[in-house]
Amino acid sequence: MPDQRGPAPSDSTDSEPDGRGGRDFIRDLVVADTASNRFEGRVQTRFPPEPNGYLHIGHAKAICLDFTVAAESGGRCFLRFDDTNPATESPEYVDGIISDVAWLGFEPQEIRYASDYFDQFYEWAELLINRGLAYVDDQDAEAISAGRGGFGQPGTDSPFRDRSVSENLRLFREMAAGQHPEGSRVLRARIDMQHENMQMRDPVMYRIRHQHHYRQGDRWCIYPTYDWAHGQGDAIEGVTHSLCTLEFRDNRALYDWYLEHLPTAELGHDGDRPYQTEFARLELTHTVTSKRILRRLVEDSHVEGWDDPRLPTLRALRKRGYPPAAIRDFCSFIGVARTNSRHAPELLESFVRAELNAMAPRRMVVLRPLKLVITNWPTDDDGNPAIEYREAINNPEDPSAGTRQVPFSGTLWIDEDDFRLEAPPKFFRLTPGREVRLRAGYFVRCTDAMTDRDGNVVEVHCTYDPQTSDGQAPDGRKVKATIHWVSEQHALPITAVLYERLFDAELPGERTGDPLDDLHPDSRERLDAVAEPAIADIGPGEVVQFERIGYFCADGRHPALFHRTVGLRDEWANIQKRRQQGAQR
Ligand code: ATP
Ligand code: MG
Repeated sequence: MPDQRGPAPSDSTDSEPDGRGGRDFIRDLVVADTASNRFEGRVQTRFPPEPNGYLHIGHAKAICLDFTVAAESGGRCFLRFDDTNPATESPEYVDGIISDVAWLGFEPQEIRYASDYFDQFYEWAELLINRGLAYVDDQDAEAISAGRGGFGQPGTDSPFRDRSVSENLRLFREMAAGQHPEGSRVLRARIDMQHENMQMRDPVMYRIRHQHHYRQGDRWCIYPTYDWAHGQGDAIEGVTHSLCTLEFRDNRALYDWYLEHLPTAELGHDGDRPYQTEFARLELTHTVTSKRILRRLVEDSHVEGWDDPRLPTLRALRKRGYPPAAIRDFCSFIGVARTNSRHAPELLESFVRAELNAMAPRRMVVLRPLKLVITNWPTDDDGNPAIEYREAINNPEDPSAGTRQVPFSGTLWIDEDDFRLEAPPKFFRLTPGREVRLRAGYFVRCTDAMTDRDGNVVEVHCTYDPQTSDGQAPDGRKVKATIHWVSEQHALPITAVLYERLFDAELPGERTGDPLDDLHPDSRERLDAVAEPAIADIGPGEVVQFERIGYFCADGRHPALFHRTVGLRDEWANIQKRRQQGAQR
């Protein structure tokens, strides 16, 4: 008997993260199976990507689930490449996926390839033919599709459905030997053309493709479908719990049917046949996780490659400075449910920020430099502006990170945003007549500002108060703002790249059907910025907090190039507050 113990459709929703981490319906199943000794104590899962693109944040959820469910029970998790389609797969993606899984923090017990099982699949196909459970159909794809009927509409039998076993065997062998052109014939399982589940209406098992396979070379010119490969791969490896996303719910009956009709007991694994359980996909608003769309974005140069920091691919998030622990924590927080849902990217960002706040060193960087001259700054014995070294804290969250010396002198860069010729209400930063604190420096008061012919401010003049060396005024007077700065003479030029959402619609593609119609026109901004000298301590791939601005990741290859990981403000907190206010109203 096929086991029908997959989860029943449920009304539960995870549109709000449950935040439980811990137990969920999948872990409950594993616990129950262990208690009943269904697999003789074994727990084995697999993560089965098709190597036709790079992994994205949705895959991270599946990876975390597959690996942690196994690990929690002392079980095993394999990485299996579902490489059954020669047209789109390549070793580049295989290597990329292996390194992304490792980066995320998981180590598969073994790496397997569905294509290594092609001989076994072939042998089993002949076995089904011999039992009258598979046949060669000469209809083309269109006729096959029409013959399947639709929901509530019965299918019609193919005119080739009742071929003799010997004719089926001969034709199938000819297909495998390359004697028939692509698209001329397929092998189908002979199940039930009236089945209420469309997946069961004589599904295709093999298609003819005269194509080169990146691992098998030209050995095969028939290739198995996903369904004819997946459960069999699970059975060969001894998988117990085959976890996949909800869109495969209807495929489960077929998964069971194939395994029920194959001699899987001969494979020698303890316990029952594997069985499939579906869970909700992870989707984020304002982004896409379809590999097809991601590939279009890359191939049509809307982004700079699979690791463009605006993409939701793991390599993009890595380049952008997302700590893998933050991604794992996020996946655990959103939990596992049976209803698809979307989460705001701000929720993921809040995990990134929490992780980085604890570990990222701080540095002062001015993104849009405006010159500030301290008119009463002293000169040294040679008549040059004096230079002072100010002590700055590397990470207020981590005393062990210590302090650094930041050079200070009479001409500084400050951020354009920190100055207004005419200050609007609640602008407490620098404006003529106003005094502010320079971080790790003195109080300065603005006396004057120079403008160009168009009225743009080009230089700000200030006086400093030598009594405020420790950042306090001896007379107790207060300032309302502290701004950051970089000494002009010591400034190192850097490039900072700011990223906005790649799509400005919450559900890209909802309006016109094509997500690319919702591309944000200015999702990237490159700034010529200046940094304090200690920026040079930040190694490739390391994340640093630009004080008062945000977290930035040093590019792995180009020195002095920094990608914005995430800003400092917790937008998720605002979203939640708005939701709560909405709920109270
Ligand atoms: P495509 O976009 O081409 O349909 P895919 O995203 O389904 O591909 P696969 O390589 O087949 O890519 O996925 C490998 C595994 O990751 C599958 O088990 C799939 O269920 C799971 N997975 C894919 N996308 C998501 C997602 N958004 N959330 C959770 N799991 C996912
Ligand atoms: Mg898929």
